[in-house]
Amino acid sequence: MAYQKFIVDAMLGKLARWLRILGYDTLYFKDMEDWKILKIAKNENRIILTRDRGLCNRAKKNSIECFLVLPDEEIEKTLALLSHKFGLLLDINPDASRCSECNGILEKKDKNLWVCTKCKKEYWKGRHWDTITEILIKARSLKDSYESTKHRGHRPASREESGENS
Ligand SMILES: [Zn+2]
Repeated sequence: MAYQKFIVDAMLGKLARWLRILGYDTLYFKDMEDWKILKIAKNENRIILTRDRGLCNRAKKNSIECFLVLPDEEIEKTLALLSHKFGLLLDINPDASRCSECNGILEKKDKNLWVCTKCKKEYWKGRHWDTITEILIKARSLKDSYESTKHRGHRPASREESGENS
């Protein structure tokens, strides 16, 4: 089953919001010590997403899945890589989305309106929808390009080392 859960470190707030929009259960804390992130990831079987190579190495030593996001990586690229590696679905379905602010479940209230069951934030299917769709189209085509070139180039060795989930 490709349905993954994530824990995202402080530097990657934008990515956390994207994962929630895509419907993935994603924890994000603005300030959390590494050992706590490791503990939650282990207990809740979450994949760690971070820019911190040291944290990733510690995660791997503890058999926790970790994905290193490179500093200049655009969101389309990160999503494409996550999709390639973890089977992330690059489709948006607002009925399955989570609240980008608090990770709460959304409830449909009207044709184009969803409300977070936790923090009550309202989501309208408005103009931003086109932007989201465009980014996902780009991400999907990037992903296709990774899959056609397979293991040649493009990705740093550290990503390969983390290997498949065993
Ligand atoms: Zn919320």
